[in-house]
Amino acid sequence: MIEKRQFFIGGAWVDPATPRDFPVIDPSTEEEVAVISLGSQADTDAAVAAANAAFPAWSETAPAERIALVERILEVYNARAEEMAQAMTLEMGAPLDLSRKSQVNSGRSHIKGFLEAAKGFEFIRPLNDHSPNDRILYDPIGTVAMITPWNWPMNQVSLKVIPALLAGCTMVLKPSEIAPLSSILWSEILEEAGVPAGVYNMVNGDGPGVGNQLSSHPGIDMVSFTGSTRAGIAISKAAADTIKRVSLELGGKGANLIFADSDADAVRRGVKDMMQNTGQSCNAPSRMLVERRIYDEAVEIAREAAEATAVANAHEEGPHIGPLVSQAQWDKVQGLIETGIAEGARLVAGGPGRPEGLNRGYFARPTVFADVTSDMTIAREEIFGPVLSMMPFDTEEEAVRIANDTVYGLTNYAQTQDPDRLRRLARSLQSGMVEFNGEDRSRGAPFGGIKQSGNGREGGLFGLEDFLEVKAVGGYPAA
Ligand code: NAD
Repeated sequence: MIEKRQFFIGGAWVDPATPRDFPVIDPSTEEEVAVISLGSQADTDAAVAAANAAFPAWSETAPAERIALVERILEVYNARAEEMAQAMTLEMGAPLDLSRKSQVNSGRSHIKGFLEAAKGFEFIRPLNDHSPNDRILYDPIGTVAMITPWNWPMNQVSLKVIPALLAGCTMVLKPSEIAPLSSILWSEILEEAGVPAGVYNMVNGDGPGVGNQLSSHPGIDMVSFTGSTRAGIAISKAAADTIKRVSLELGGKGANLIFADSDADAVRRGVKDMMQNTGQSCNAPSRMLVERRIYDEAVEIAREAAEATAVANAHEEGPHIGPLVSQAQWDKVQGLIETGIAEGARLVAGGPGRPEGLNRGYFARPTVFADVTSDMTIAREEIFGPVLSMMPFDTEEEAVRIANDTVYGLTNYAQTQDPDRLRRLARSLQSGMVEFNGEDRSRGAPFGGIKQSGNGREGGLFGLEDFLEVKAVGGYPAA
């Protein structure tokens, strides 16, 4: 049994003020594999005090010094990549290959993207070319609370910690209590890289405890949150009394518009993207909208692709998907599959229960529903499981209307060979991100949503600016 009860506060590993054990469950086996402690108000206060105390000196450091620290973090992160992959597979059930290639790599890629952005960043710059004594200063916001989910642990932690360090902020990270092992290892990496005492702190805890304490804390200047829309609302309310800046990366219900002139692989690729990470991605293309002329054929391809999706223990190597993260998530996904059937969607692959031969572990069956309509629960709620909803459309206008008929607005996708249509869709799809023909956004592109998917923009230059205050100065003396 792994025992990781301590928190990282003020540059040291410290015991919780009041012990409160919490188990970490391996979702592949349902076995308790580690124990952490959930923090209390005294731990939160200690971490915030350490971060506040470190802020004056850290915010005054030269950008080059902060860049050098992040370069060392990248070196140590790379050196401990295999440990990190194993930690994520154990705590949240990402299959080993996905952990190694995508989960670990997302952190690495974000660190590189932030380094590129920070190297050219002018923290003091002119307002324009006809106001010689005006300057715009980019100041670090202060002490930032970071609250992260379990589904892409290092992706989300690196998207917050690295730009905050580069901006000159100090911070307290509260990772997901369901997947805390990767963030404990991340804290060891930062310690090994030589992060100054108090600049970076980590306290484990749950939402109503440390999460809420940080969100409402007078010593916190900003909350950077990734997780459910439900928690995002609670955090915004808790932060309101102290007018903190609140950056939110929330849920999604992405539409994938497949037109009749799409490439031959579009449907199969859409199913694969949906099933990746067992459907537990905020940007999953969970609603597949297909032009009616090719709809029946597309449903058949999707059925085959879902049935060909292997499900297995996350610790095994290979291209399979793994379990869902927890019993609660398994129950929720099963409930939504049942609701889909009850509300009249046509089940074409998968369905309730576990895949054959997997009796233990939070495994779900790769599932495809056809003839889904926008008023059905499975078209409206984020399922966060390997469940695809397919719906036909006749015209581009109808497809856009269905795609935008959701409270979410994170990522939408489209597959067509018509460049004019792609340019129109880039504007008409209501989301923070749009991806065409299977092409991912590049490193440094801002990640974030609109509507109830949040307001943050993470990654690269935009992500760095999220942790900076703009100060306007008049009468600035010329050099
Ligand atoms: P969650 O909202 O339950 O938990 C996320 C984090 O918030 C955890 O650390 C949790 O302890 C904390 N938390 C919960 N309630 C809180 C409260 N009242 N106050 C303060 N903190 C609180 O989400 P989850 O189940 O861990 O993650 C899945 C959700 O995250 C999905 O909705 C998914 O779409 C979303 N997500 C969004 C993005 C994005 O960038 N938009 C990325 C990944 C995941």
